[in-house]
Amino acid sequence: MTNRDTVSSKDALNLLMEGNKRFINNTPRQYDTIKIREETKNHQYPFASILSCSDSRTNIDTIFDQNLGDLFSVRLAGNIASTEAIGSLEFSCKYLGSRLIVVMGHSNCGAIKAACDDYKGGNIGEIIKLIAPAVAAEKSVNDKEQRDSKNELFVEKVSFLNVQKQIDTILQKSSIIREMVKDKKIGIVAGVYSLSSGLFEIDLDNSIL
Ligand SMILES: [Zn+2]
Repeated sequence: MTNRDTVSSKDALNLLMEGNKRFINNTPRQYDTIKIREETKNHQYPFASILSCSDSRTNIDTIFDQNLGDLFSVRLAGNIASTEAIGSLEFSCKYLGSRLIVVMGHSNCGAIKAACDDYKGGNIGEIIKLIAPAVAAEKSVNDKEQRDSKNELFVEKVSFLNVQKQIDTILQKSSIIREMVKDKKIGIVAGVYSLSSGLFEIDLDNSIL
């Protein structure tokens, strides 16, 4: 367990990226799970909070090689910043001392593809509504080209933009997070994870550290 008191937002990002490197190189740390359970049974000090997709291939503890008590995880299809997701992030930063919010999209995302196809079925449509602004913002593929899930490049571009849009939503809707970012108590990182390479690629232009 990492002591959050000595961790800055940049340190938190470094811890994540070192873990991601171990994951890519197939050299994960060995853990004494009994000891970690004992250490964390009464409290938690996660050093980072991650809003990521529910996709079964994007579990963050594996991707960043972390264990119990390290990461506060908010997972919803399409890594959408719903009101409840934002509330969860506020809780982790304000009350658990998390130093970093990461919004992580990923390649070949089913939710993004559904949004690209303007899927409206059932409650899934509620998720799509929150991704639609990213689809609309994607202008490099014009109306004469294929603006749907069959166009891989279009899907990847929307996925990238979606991370930015969700961060915008978090900052617009959360005065708690806005203040903490302004006071440099926390940072926010945008990035996309590749299912094929295992790399989490940071979008520095849309991150605040
Ligand atoms: Zn996904």
